[in-house]
Amino acid sequence: MKTILLRMGELFLKGENRSFFENTLVNNIKLKLSGLKYKLEKTRGRLLITEFDDCDELVCRLKKVFGLYSLSIADELLAEVDEILNYFKKIDVYNKTFKIDVNRADKTFPINSMEMAARIGEVVLKQNAKARVELYKPDLLFCVDIRSNGKAYVYHEVIKCQGGLPLSTSGKALLLLSGGIDSPVAGYMMAKRGLRLEAIHFHSYPYTSPEAKQKVLTLAKKLSEYIDEIKVHCISFTKIQEEIHSKCAPEFMITLMRRIMMRISERVAKKNNLGAIITGESLGQVASQTMQSMTVTEQVVMDLPIFRPCVGLDKEDIIKIAKDIDTFETSILPYEDCCTVFLPKNPIIKPKISKVLNQEKMLDIESLVNEALEGEEIISIVNEN
Ligand code: ATP
Ligand code: MG
Repeated sequence: MKTILLRMGELFLKGENRSFFENTLVNNIKLKLSGLKYKLEKTRGRLLITEFDDCDELVCRLKKVFGLYSLSIADELLAEVDEILNYFKKIDVYNKTFKIDVNRADKTFPINSMEMAARIGEVVLKQNAKARVELYKPDLLFCVDIRSNGKAYVYHEVIKCQGGLPLSTSGKALLLLSGGIDSPVAGYMMAKRGLRLEAIHFHSYPYTSPEAKQKVLTLAKKLSEYIDEIKVHCISFTKIQEEIHSKCAPEFMITLMRRIMMRISERVAKKNNLGAIITGESLGQVASQTMQSMTVTEQVVMDLPIFRPCVGLDKEDIIKIAKDIDTFETSILPYEDCCTVFLPKNPIIKPKISKVLNQEKMLDIESLVNEALEGEEIISIVNEN
């Protein structure tokens, strides 16, 4: 019987919490596979999928489930010596080189792994006089996994999956999602650590176009392939930018904007029970991403952690992930972000908090924040597979 074997990465490390992680993973898998025909079974250390029709579609979706480490498409046999040897009697290796790899998870199986591999090898060679065993670079690899559920699984390939932790097992957080390359990657990286996401996006309509907003929704849609569903809180930043532009020194524009973005983000996070704020900042990438800028920006966030998973990555590394998760092509579409609209010529690179506070005295921040929150538009994006 054809079976898809699923391996559950880091879950082994979790001791007492293991069943919580496993159950969450199973629920996430069921959600991901909805609409498809299959049967899912738990055994020690593995999940098994049988009775399916569309193997390609199943594998394609399973590769987007966090917490799954790898999978293999296998033939399921009874874990009995003769049964396994009979299976190999019907295998033709077409004069190619081959390797038999036996893993005996069930130590009550009467023959050890090495010996079983040798016995299988003999059977194969008997049918295929020109075939040859090759341990390093065989044309054909046969892995035989003998499990303690009384079954053995034969497969050729281990297909890498996402790894990470099952979605939800770390809680929920708010992603600051711009239209750029970095923030979708940051969201993906934290989702992979078990965080469900909501997103917040600041736009400066009519200075920014409706296409710029649509681009962000497209990015959210791409992320939803991994996290099922993502609510996007769209906030107009226009009035705030106009106020800063008319009342404050231009070189502080970005710092002031970012502090207000953070204040609004924290309010949205608190209201929606989101336990952290995520940004796509990377140290030194632009003026607003120096240590000093980050210090001044994060001071306004009272009691949530800020996660910046891209902080230590080179742009090249970030782009590689963006390509892997298929957000790159959307991110490079040439629509302006709200941050670029009133961009000063010489932004301050190492802002001093005292000077920033002086600038903020020119603004009625509390009312600006409240007004922005009143105009919040929430768009729910659901993955349709
Ligand atoms: P990105 O590629 O993610 O846009 P960036 O390199 O352009 O990042 P900045 O514009 O300084 O850098 O933004 C830093 C981070 O601030 C972004 O990664 C994102 O998390 C957040 N951010 C910036 N602009 C917005 C916006 N318009 N709406 C929501 N979050 C934003
Ligand atoms: Mg940006």
